[in-house]
Amino acid sequence: MIATDSDTTTPALGVLRRVFGYDSFRGEQEAIIEHVVAGGDALVLMPTGGGKSLCYQIPALVRDGVGVVVSPLIALMQDQVDALRALGVRAGFLNSTQDYRQRREVEEAFLAGELDLLYLAPERLRVEATVNLLERGTISLFAIDEAHCVSQWGHDFRPDYLALSQLHERWPRVPRIALTATATRATHDEIATRLNLGGARHFVASFDRPNIQYRIVPKNSPQKQLLDLLRTEHAGDAGIVYCLSRASVEKTAEFLVANRIEALPYHAGLDAATRARNQARFLREDGLVVVATIAFGMGIDKPDVRFVAHLDLPKSVEGYYQETGRAGRDGLSSTAWLAYGLADVVQQRKMIDTSEGDEAHRRRLSRHLDAMLALCETVECRRVQLLNYFGQSGQPCGNCDTCLSPPESWDGTIAAQKLLSTVYRLQHERRQKFGAGQIIDILLGKQSPKVAQFRHDELTVFGIGTELSEGEWRGVVRQLLAQGLLSVEGDYGTLVLTEASGEVLGRRREVRLRREPKREPRAAKPAK
Ligand code: ADP
Ligand code: ZN
Repeated sequence: MIATDSDTTTPALGVLRRVFGYDSFRGEQEAIIEHVVAGGDALVLMPTGGGKSLCYQIPALVRDGVGVVVSPLIALMQDQVDALRALGVRAGFLNSTQDYRQRREVEEAFLAGELDLLYLAPERLRVEATVNLLERGTISLFAIDEAHCVSQWGHDFRPDYLALSQLHERWPRVPRIALTATATRATHDEIATRLNLGGARHFVASFDRPNIQYRIVPKNSPQKQLLDLLRTEHAGDAGIVYCLSRASVEKTAEFLVANRIEALPYHAGLDAATRARNQARFLREDGLVVVATIAFGMGIDKPDVRFVAHLDLPKSVEGYYQETGRAGRDGLSSTAWLAYGLADVVQQRKMIDTSEGDEAHRRRLSRHLDAMLALCETVECRRVQLLNYFGQSGQPCGNCDTCLSPPESWDGTIAAQKLLSTVYRLQHERRQKFGAGQIIDILLGKQSPKVAQFRHDELTVFGIGTELSEGEWRGVVRQLLAQGLLSVEGDYGTLVLTEASGEVLGRRREVRLRREPKREPRAAKPAK
């Protein structure tokens, strides 16, 4: 416990200034901290970079006893603890990376009352010895970081988190604060239920990140598009490029290096030392680009990341929001750029079809993907759509691609009918399975070898779609997928009809589509 200096400031403000060296609280930090200092439970939803850590660190310093922080980010515990120690805070951690002696030291410090904060991996609490240890000391609070990991509906479920519901039974008088940066209303409620936080006060910060400019573009030649973005708008800037696979991480990093952009790869297939080195360089040096799988970034706190680029479609809006949220923590204008194409949809559907877990799990993954597609294909403001997804409202922002150059929409009913009836003929009349490429060749009346082989030139729909280009037809397919009017399945991305397709084919439903932009919208005016 740290004594306070004067009676003009609250103990919490005193700690903020003296220990952390900041002048004032941000947003709801003060209200949250006062609530927990007074012994209340709290559920905190704050976007990445919002300043969640202080919300439990300060109460832990103000209240008697040790603040126990449950976090799944084992790899970051050492860094977090080092950073706290550098500020004079007595911190330690217990996780599976330590040997017996190291653990013993921390346990002794805990029992002797020589710790302010103790970081624990969630699986530690399954070990009876840890629970016994905690019972022999004085605990000021429990902080449950990355609380969305308790949600089986979310994208980051950790079974060990379920055991955290027992904290309340064992320590009914110790306040608990659960924190997350990613939660829809549903996840939010689920956290409260599963962690037994029924009586907790909810603090929900706005999820808007006004300094991030959101842009989503059709993927043509992704590496070139990326290079163009980096050269024209982000020369010399630090940024993160996300790819889905390790192989594409490697290839993209090599490509950037070959084009004289300093880029480092990061994925779980690299040995731990290389990963640690690349991460450390990214954090310390200026203007480096990390090309990474989503293994990179959880808990990364680099304020001046100027862009986050996705070369593959994220699996969920939560993931997209969290990954893009690593840009612009310093509040300066930054870019979130995503290139996505039909192949992404095919690939992800395939991953869902072959994923482990039951049917309900697959349906959930599917819903996540659908929401992500809807964001990609929206004609509305991206920010408004994102905020709505998180149950918040907003006004068209003027700082996303759809606001900066509003996409035209057009009546795609006839195009959709042509496309869907081609799918119908193959699927139902010929009982054949084909992906978008062949369907589009048929619509365009292309005499390809595959068209000849399957005698698709004999179909009545052959050549009925020459009014659109191949790229435009791909856009139609993507948008029909996003609108649930078409579906894709199997290894080769077979297009199949959905129940809703019938409404279009039966002329009972109109289809509005967004026109493909001729060129990529750029920051027409400086971002806020
Ligand atoms: P989160 O965990 O929500 O992603 P952090 O707790 O890591 O965010 O905080 C993000 C950054 O903001 C950190 O560098 C932190 O030191 C800084 N920060 C937090 N609160 C304040 C404050 N009141 N004043 C100034 N900087 C702050
Ligand atoms: Zn907008």
